[in-house]
Amino acid sequence: MYNREDFVSNSDWKKFLEFSKNLETPNIVVNVNTVRKNFIKLRDSFPYARIYYAMKANPGEPVLKMLIEEGCCFDIASRYELDKILALGAKPDNLSYGNTIKKARDVKYFYEKGVRMFATDSKEDLKNIAEFAPKSRVYVRILVENSVTADWPLSRKFGCHPDMAYDLLVQARDMGLTPYGISFHVGSQQRDIGQWNDAIAKAKYLFNSLEEEEDIKLTMINMGGGFPASYIEPTNTLDVYASEITRYLQDDFGEDIPEIILEPGRSLVADAGILTSEVVLISRKNNTALSRWVYIDAGKFNGLIETLDESIKYPIVTEKDGGKESEVIIAGPTCDSMDIMYEDAKYKLPRDLKIGDKLYWLSTGAYTSTYASVEFNGFPPLKTYFM
Ligand SMILES: *Cc1c(COP(=O)(O)O)cnc(C)c1O
Repeated sequence: MYNREDFVSNSDWKKFLEFSKNLETPNIVVNVNTVRKNFIKLRDSFPYARIYYAMKANPGEPVLKMLIEEGCCFDIASRYELDKILALGAKPDNLSYGNTIKKARDVKYFYEKGVRMFATDSKEDLKNIAEFAPKSRVYVRILVENSVTADWPLSRKFGCHPDMAYDLLVQARDMGLTPYGISFHVGSQQRDIGQWNDAIAKAKYLFNSLEEEEDIKLTMINMGGGFPASYIEPTNTLDVYASEITRYLQDDFGEDIPEIILEPGRSLVADAGILTSEVVLISRKNNTALSRWVYIDAGKFNGLIETLDESIKYPIVTEKDGGKESEVIIAGPTCDSMDIMYEDAKYKLPRDLKIGDKLYWLSTGAYTSTYASVEFNGFPPLKTYFM
């Protein structure tokens, strides 16, 4: 969890203020060295795992280049991501086509570029993989229920019931593919570590039953992303995630832990980014209203879409913090009334906040810049700088 005192006494914060002071707002500044530190921390916490960065979280070139340098692998969701990561020098052996929703011609494209590892969760997709990516390794994504304890759930749309996963892996073998393993994603910003326990138990069940009944020996579990970034809502530290999850694996698999893959997105890049916005207008809706409306030049359509349903609660810092504060509603600059970031969350901002002051949105390195609209009300996409 984010702690304000630690944060503003940190030398990176001063370096950031210096770096960003003359940049046009809104913008995001990403500290690539923080991403590197997060990567190394995750790698050291799970020394037995291979890390496939889910590049959708932040596909900035300096981030990708640094991760390639560090030996990271990548979870790829489209041919455009594939082209980008190959152009930066990633090896096809270090890539996984992790999107279960793909066109047959994209499967072919990935295969031609040398990718041999594919996720699936349906029969039709599996048939395409067998036809256009023969002999490749396939892993099946199973459904896990995570809508309650994950701040940004990824349930329902992806994955299939374990019984179907069983059938798909048998069919994969029969179609000449290599049944490789099981994947799951427990939901992004998953605050309940126990969710991994349930998912690992399902994987274990599939490992056993496929071996006993079909003589299929799976070798890999892809435990997805879901590791935490530092927002307002508290989470356990990464150390606790690592020790608990490792214990779940040992409980189920003993000494014989399969190959483990992690697919972090948010936890590697979120804390490395700061979004700077400027206050455009402060107003009240009637003379006795208690809350001020604070309108800023960033909003749901240029970087802050994860405030939908007030799901992700970013820490916000101003240069006037420390004095008296009062409740605000924070909204974006566009002419769409859904462009309100926080109303129920009851954020407080300094009473002497003025038009032209800056709001710094912390932990905005993930799922922000690429989620920005192109020309809504004419506003350009959010600009990202790397330091
Ligand atoms: C988005 C995504 C991830 C990354 O999840 P985080 O919660 O951001 O770590 C991992 N795997 C897949 C398949 C994804 O779609």
